[in-house]
Amino acid sequence: MDGRIEHGFRARLRALAVVAGESDPDGWAARRVREALARAKSGGSSPALALLEAWKESLLSARSASTANERASGAAPPWVRFDEAHPPRFLCDPSLGGLARWLRAAGYEAVLAPEVAGHRLPDEALRRGLVLLTTEAEVLDRRIVGEGSLVAVWVPSAIGMAEQLRMAALDLGLALREPRCMACGGTLVPTPKEAVRPRIPPRTALWKDEYFVCEGCGGLFWRGTHWARIEATLRRAVAA
Ligand SMILES: [Zn+2]
Repeated sequence: MDGRIEHGFRARLRALAVVAGESDPDGWAARRVREALARAKSGGSSPALALLEAWKESLLSARSASTANERASGAAPPWVRFDEAHPPRFLCDPSLGGLARWLRAAGYEAVLAPEVAGHRLPDEALRRGLVLLTTEAEVLDRRIVGEGSLVAVWVPSAIGMAEQLRMAALDLGLALREPRCMACGGTLVPTPKEAVRPRIPPRTALWKDEYFVCEGCGGLFWRGTHWARIEATLRRAVAA
C-alpha cells in the first residue's frame, strides 16, 4: 500500500468530517481509513479502491448532512462553490494530461502548466482562480487548501482515468456540459457542412450533416462512433 494514497484519502475524509460536523475529524477519518483497509484485506480487493469506496460513501452522507443542516462551520464544501453559470476551471498537474482531455470532453476548461514547477502549482492555481487537480496528496496539507482559499481535488494515480474523473465529478458536483475540444479546450462552434466540406473524409460526409470547428485550434469535429464511445464513458463517470 502506497502510504501517500492512504494519506490523501485520510485528508479528504477529514475534510468531509468537518463539513458533516463531526466533533473529532482526525479520529473519525483515521477510523474510516482503518475500516476500509481491513475490508480490503478480508475481501481481497485493492486498498486504493476500498478507500475510494469509503470516501464516496462519506461524501454522499456529508453532502446530505450539510444541505440538511446548512452548517456554517469550517470551510465551504467544494460542491457549493460552483453553479451552472460559473463552472470550475481546472489546472491539472503534469501527470493528469489524460484526465484534462476528458474534463474538456465533459465541457470544462482544463489546462496544464508545464512551465511551472510542481511545488508552485497550488500558488499558480490560486493566482489564476483555477481548481487544482493533483495526484500529490501533500497538497491537501497546504494552508491555502485547509483554509479554503484554494479548491484542490486530489485523485490517486493508482486508480483508472474513469475513476479519477468520477472522483472529481463527485467532489465538485459536476454535471455534463457542452463538450469542448479535447485537444486544446476551445469552444466547438457549429459550422455549416458546405463551409468545411473539403476537410470532411468522403465516407463521413455521406452520413453526417452536423460539424463543429474548434475556436482554439481550428480542429474539425463531428459526433461519430468515436464520440459515442467517449460520451458513454462520460455518462458513466460524470452523470451517473
Ligand atoms: Zn481545439
